Amino acid sequence: MKNFNESRTYEEAVAIHRQRVEDSIEYYDKYILGGGGAFFIRNCPFCGYDEFDEEEKFYDRYGVARCKRCNSLYVNPCPSQELLNDYYAHAKCNSMLEKIYTERDQKSKSDILDSRVTFLADFINRMDESEISLLEFGCSNGSFLRKLKTYLQRIGIEKKIRFVGVDTNPDAISSNNDSELELHYGTAEDFLKSFDGVFNIIWHTELIEHIISPYDLFTLAREKMSLGGFMIFTTPNEFALESRSLSYNVPRMLACSILPPMHLNAFSTLNITNFAIRCGFGIVSIETPGKMDVEMLELQRENLNNDLARRIIALDDNEKELIQEILSSTGASSHMRCVLKKL
Ligand SMILES: [Zn+2]
Repeated sequence: MKNFNESRTYEEAVAIHRQRVEDSIEYYDKYILGGGGAFFIRNCPFCGYDEFDEEEKFYDRYGVARCKRCNSLYVNPCPSQELLNDYYAHAKCNSMLEKIYTERDQKSKSDILDSRVTFLADFINRMDESEISLLEFGCSNGSFLRKLKTYLQRIGIEKKIRFVGVDTNPDAISSNNDSELELHYGTAEDFLKSFDGVFNIIWHTELIEHIISPYDLFTLAREKMSLGGFMIFTTPNEFALESRSLSYNVPRMLACSILPPMHLNAFSTLNITNFAIRCGFGIVSIETPGKMDVEMLELQRENLNNDLARRIIALDDNEKELIQEILSSTGASSHMRCVLKKL
């Protein structure tokens, strides 16, 4: 085990969480005191239903809803796009995290990035098409696309691939110096509306938990995908042992599914199928390949809310590794990787 420190150190994680909560409270208070319009009631982002029960508030501020139809958790009332734009442009926690990502990116080998590159490359290799158009939402400076391109060249895949990315950070887009990557500045929605063509693959990581209407994004994206094209993405899994063993109101080592104004939608292995079908996709695979759940339980032992989790962390190392393998292979790890197909 000990995979966590490859992502960030324990001290960094504690500091980031503390800053996230401080920023969360600051932006809530700023916009609530600033007057009306900063929050609005929305329907369930997963199934579209309009009735919900109120759960415990996030740090006594943001409302959290549980859908009365699909039983999913989501932030409601939802912060406005104006609040979110301000938060992503100025909140301190985001620049802290950006620094960690940049450092991780500069290391020659990062397990998190590499496993994503090899997964997507293997997937592309197995596709029938000899020409593939690939779009990444939230491409930043194109570092993932560049790694993917390099890896595909290295393993000798003979397909013609068009690498396209879109991101809302203009500095990241302009720092790309690889002429083979087509990177665009703007929102995914605006880019899709203006794009004349279709993609065989749309790829994104840790995106859909952040946005006000993932349904609107997926249905728009579907229009710009080839029939049989794939939507491939990762997002936290709320229906996981780690996430169900810890409240969203205790310090967390990794961002949990409810962490407003950043994470607004708690996707899970349970609700993703309904959501995908509602958006016009079929399910190819839903996996939880994470490796850090037991380690997370250990690091957060003082806040565990159930006896099963406490019994797991008392096991010896071999048994813990077995438990981790069971969690990953049975859909109970805290991160999921989904492959959907346009039907
Ligand atoms: Zn629902």
